[in-house]
Amino acid sequence: MRIGALPNVTSQRTDNLRARTRGAKAVPSICCYCAVGCATLAHVDDGGKLLNVEGDPESPISGGHLCPKGAALFGLTVNTARWTTVKYRAPYAERWEERPLEWAMDRIAGLVKETRERTFVKERDGKRVNHTLGIASLGGATFGIEENYLLGKLMRSLGVVSIENQARI
Ligand code: SF4
Repeated sequence: MRIGALPNVTSQRTDNLRARTRGAKAVPSICCYCAVGCATLAHVDDGGKLLNVEGDPESPISGGHLCPKGAALFGLTVNTARWTTVKYRAPYAERWEERPLEWAMDRIAGLVKETRERTFVKERDGKRVNHTLGIASLGGATFGIEENYLLGKLMRSLGVVSIENQARI
């Protein structure tokens, strides 16, 4: 069989296809999910719109690989199915209600304030403790470094001593 001038077997549509990262800027980043810290490349267009996230082949930790969770990073950010409201079930209620995020933030802030005022202890066994055992904080693994820093600061300023993060569990 003669190998040589083969006819073009691709369609016009295939010929016109372009990678969605073509011309995009690759910004080095790190997977936010766990303490392994696999490096990623986040591709963005001129307007800063996120186009793609993939493993960074230069990473000494993962060599460009991501586990299934890390491989889904793009969908974490760009996802039309993502919830933008809060599901709330009132005490003793049987049904979930949909509430705006702002409502949930105000409710959480109110409950934290009320719980801290009710449970704050200044002294125990003659020693200054200035803490509350009525509140615990569990940070999410999708937090960035700055968010974790701020959360830790906020919780310690309230006297919370039970501070943990999902990435460590
Ligand atoms: S890609 Fe997987 S193993 Fe790597 S940091 Fe993300 S969650 Fe952890």
